[in-house]
Amino acid sequence: MREQLQNLVDRLAAYNAATVVMDWDTSTGSAPEEAGEYTAKLLGILAGEAFALSTCDETVSLLKDCMAEPSDDEIEQAVVKRLWEDYEKTHAIPQREYQEFHELTSKGMRVWEKAKGTKDFSLFAPTLGKLIEKAKKIKGYQPKKDGLTLYDLMLDEYEKGFTTAELDRFFDGLKKELMPLVKAISEKQDEVRTDFLNRPCDVESQKAFNRLLAEYLGFDLKRGVIAESEHPFTTSLHNHDVRITSHYDENMVASAIFSTIHETGHALFEQNNSDEITMTPLSGGSCAVHESQSRMFENMIGRSEAFWEPLYPKFKEVFKGQFDDVSMEEFVRGINAAAPSLIRTESDELTYCFHIMIRYELEKMMFDGEVSVDELPKLWNQKYQEYLGVEQEDDGEGILQDVHWSGAMFGYFPSYALGNAIAAQLYHAMDKNVDVEKALRSGDLSPIRAYLREHIHQYGTMRETKKLLKDATGEEFNPDYYIQYLKAKYSKLYRL
Ligand SMILES: [Zn+2]
Repeated sequence: MREQLQNLVDRLAAYNAATVVMDWDTSTGSAPEEAGEYTAKLLGILAGEAFALSTCDETVSLLKDCMAEPSDDEIEQAVVKRLWEDYEKTHAIPQREYQEFHELTSKGMRVWEKAKGTKDFSLFAPTLGKLIEKAKKIKGYQPKKDGLTLYDLMLDEYEKGFTTAELDRFFDGLKKELMPLVKAISEKQDEVRTDFLNRPCDVESQKAFNRLLAEYLGFDLKRGVIAESEHPFTTSLHNHDVRITSHYDENMVASAIFSTIHETGHALFEQNNSDEITMTPLSGGSCAVHESQSRMFENMIGRSEAFWEPLYPKFKEVFKGQFDDVSMEEFVRGINAAAPSLIRTESDELTYCFHIMIRYELEKMMFDGEVSVDELPKLWNQKYQEYLGVEQEDDGEGILQDVHWSGAMFGYFPSYALGNAIAAQLYHAMDKNVDVEKALRSGDLSPIRAYLREHIHQYGTMRETKKLLKDATGEEFNPDYYIQYLKAKYSKLYRL
C-alpha cells in the first residue's frame, strides 16, 4: 500500500484498538464501577477524532489521488473504495453531532443494564426514544438512494445488499415453512430427554471444559484470550489479539458450551483474517457472514454426533461422573431439543429465527414511525404469543433481553437470521469438498478450518457477502438449504 495511505489506515486502526480495549474493560468488569461516564467521554472523543481523520481535506485529497491513479494491488483498491464509501456516508454529519451520538450509545448501554437489572422497560424507554431519533437523524445526512427507506439504510450498515423487500421474502418463507414444524414439536415435548442438562455443574469445571473446547476448535490462545461477561461476545484489535467471553450458570452447563463454540466460530474468522487485511478497514467480516461462521460451528458442527464422538468421554471426565448414566446418543439428542421459549440467546436452532423475525418487524415499525416507544413491550409480547405461544413475566425476559438497541444497532438483528441461512448454504458447499463428518469423528478439525480460511476467513470484508457466497458455493443466496436442513433434522429427532 502506498505510504500515505498505509499511515492513514494505521492511525484509524489505532483509534479502533483503543475503543475496543475500553469497551472490553467495561463489558468484562475490568474497569471500576464508577468509570462509566468518564470513559464514555473518552470514547466519544476517540470516535470524533477518527471521524475527523476520515473526513479531513488531506484524507479526501489522498483518496482522490488513489482513485485517479489506481494501484494494481487488489487490497489497496478495496481499502480505498471502503474508505471513500465511509466518507460519502459520514462527511455531511457535523462532528459535534457524531460525537454526541457516540456518547449517547455509550450511556445507552449503562441505562439498559440498569433497566434490565430491575426488569423495568420504562427506565430505558426515554433513552431508547433518543437513540432512535438520533440514529434517524444521523442516517438523514447520508446520500439518498432510490427506493430505499430509512430502515433499508440501517440494514445496509450491517449487511450490504439486503433490503427490506428481500428480507420480507426471506422471513415470509421461514414463517410459512417452519411455523407448522414449531407447532408439531411443541406437542411432542416428551420425545427428547433434557433433564440432565440442568444438573448442577461447578463453574470451575465448566471453565476448564470450555477452555479445552475453544482450543480443540482451533482458537489460538497465544493470539487470543477468554474472559467472562454478562452477554458473551467476540472482539479483536487485529488477527493477533482476538478476545472472547463466556458466561457461566451452574445449572445450565450447555449454555456456556454452546456460547463458547459460537464465539470461537467468530474468533476463528478474526484470527484467520490474512495479515494483509488485518488492521485495515477490510478486517473482520460482514455481520451475516460472521454469524454464519459462529452458527455453523455452534449448531451444524457443535450439535452433531460426529463432533461429540471424540469429545464426550472428555466431557464426562471433566464433570467427574456427573453424566455417567447419560449415553452419548441421549446427550446429543438432548442438546438438539427444541421448544418455544422467551430468550433468544438460549433458544434452539428451530425457533431462533422467530426471535429475529419479531425484532425485525418491530424495528421496521419503529423506523416507519408506526409505533411509539411506550407501545413496544405490549407489541413485543403479542408477537411472542402469536409466533411462539409463550408469555413474558416481565420486560427483563422480554424486550430488555438484548443489548443491541442500547448501542443504536438498529438493523443488526436480521443479519443473525441471514447468518443461519448462509451457514447452511456454505456447509452444503463445504461438505462436497471436505469429508466433514470424517474430520469431526477423527477429532482433527483442520480440514474444516482450512476450507473456511481459504473461502471465507482470509478475505475479511474485502468481498461483499453476495459475491463471497457466490464464489464459495457457485450459487446466489439461497435460504432453501437452511429450511431443508431444519425440516430434515427436526422431523427425524421428533419422529414427525
Ligand atoms: Zn454471534
